Amino acid sequence: MEGTGESQLTNTPKFKVFYDDQCEICQAGVSWLRLLDRGGRTECLGIHPETIAPHPALAIDRCLQELHVVTPDERVLTGWDAVARLARLSPFTWMIGAVGAVPPFRWIGRLVYRLVAANRYALSKCRGGACHAFRPREVRRRTGLAPFWTCYTIGFLMHFPLSVAALTRSIARHIALLWRTHGRRVELLDGKLSLVFLNSFTCDLVSLMFGEQFLMILYDGIAIDPGSTRMRRALEHHLRRLPKGGVRAIAATHHHEEHSCNLNWLSVRAGAPIYVGAATAAVLRSPPLLPRIRRWMIGQPPPLVEPYTVLESEMAGATSTLEVIAAPGHCDDHIVLYDRQEKLLIAGDTFMGTYFSAPNPDVDSRKWISTLERMLELEIEILVEGHGFVHTLRQDVPDFPGLVIRRHPREEILEKLRFFEWLRNQIDAGLREGLPLRAVEVTCFPWGQAYAWEQFASDELSRMLSGGHWSRTELVRSFVRGEQDAVLPTVYQARFWRGPA
Ligand SMILES: [Zn+2]
Repeated sequence: MEGTGESQLTNTPKFKVFYDDQCEICQAGVSWLRLLDRGGRTECLGIHPETIAPHPALAIDRCLQELHVVTPDERVLTGWDAVARLARLSPFTWMIGAVGAVPPFRWIGRLVYRLVAANRYALSKCRGGACHAFRPREVRRRTGLAPFWTCYTIGFLMHFPLSVAALTRSIARHIALLWRTHGRRVELLDGKLSLVFLNSFTCDLVSLMFGEQFLMILYDGIAIDPGSTRMRRALEHHLRRLPKGGVRAIAATHHHEEHSCNLNWLSVRAGAPIYVGAATAAVLRSPPLLPRIRRWMIGQPPPLVEPYTVLESEMAGATSTLEVIAAPGHCDDHIVLYDRQEKLLIAGDTFMGTYFSAPNPDVDSRKWISTLERMLELEIEILVEGHGFVHTLRQDVPDFPGLVIRRHPREEILEKLRFFEWLRNQIDAGLREGLPLRAVEVTCFPWGQAYAWEQFASDELSRMLSGGHWSRTELVRSFVRGEQDAVLPTVYQARFWRGPA
């Protein structure tokens, strides 16, 4: 019996699967294989001279024509026979593989496989993934945008169930985290750093769907980003429980509503002065009217009124000095606060996970890249995000599953930077080729990359709920902002209301 007697140990020889990593259909097939292969019995390799070199029986040209699998005993299976053999590795698809290996189903399988394989090049203009483009001229010559979209759609259909499953799993994780943090004040570094969770019904909905937490950071007596109007009741609740004089100063990292609405309000309650960057003050003196959905979910910032102090290069905490560093990218007025002694960075929204793929319309990703490069020059051991996550390996920060992420901040920033740089190259290449913006967007999210399908459902939901304000399209547009069109109209504004030409 095949599939039962073979060892499941990971160090036993594996089935080597050689697939075309330029092809979205092949990428989609490999995603499924990785999901179904619970025992880790397969190894998927893109077709490149270095990957096929150890197997003299393989030739690049033949591999590009059809799927090649090298079995643990070095037999080479191709096309449908390879598919059927792989199917027999998983109990879920075993039946398909078993039936597909006997005539006449085997003949039918081979016929269908050949049909798809023969037209795969025409279907596939896939510049995503690693895309080393073996035959770039060939691919360009034989493909137009119609095959591009056909290929994308087939990839989409194959990934849709995976995407919905990923969304369900992440919502379950968000619920668990919300449950553990709801209404809490989490104290770290002997109380020098507190994460003060600010919950409200509508904001909790955002947390459940997208995983962002809403909170105020209390660091060494400075209340940073004290939340929005929707969160005032929660803030009031915390203020009653804070020691007297617990808030000595109030600051905001940037003007976005979930960070800045309560500056004046908290200043009156706590009797503490306000500090904001000059650019943030300029926006907040007469804040723009937010789209209805953001007003309802989070709250409209009221105008900032005096007295407040404009931040220069430093800000004093109870026992420490924080350096104020301009950090444009997420929005133009963003600043971060850095405690050189503690090696701690309060990053606000400058770091929102590595693969944050549905940003707001005022993001400028090219500026963000230079900000991240400058952050790499700082010695950071603790990175505190504006939406709830703390990245550190330091042992004096206790574990808090889901909230404290045990990775070195430098590693996290580097990974984010690499992702941004990859996007920039992908977008520049697409624009040079004259692809429409929508097609460029698709090439930034090739189905072969886990982040593309894992976050697909949640990104599209975010696009729908925010009327296009937070979307993958904005991510692409965040790379093409020029001087004259600092803030482009959103996709929906452009489509339905024909924004400024
Ligand atoms: Zn923000």
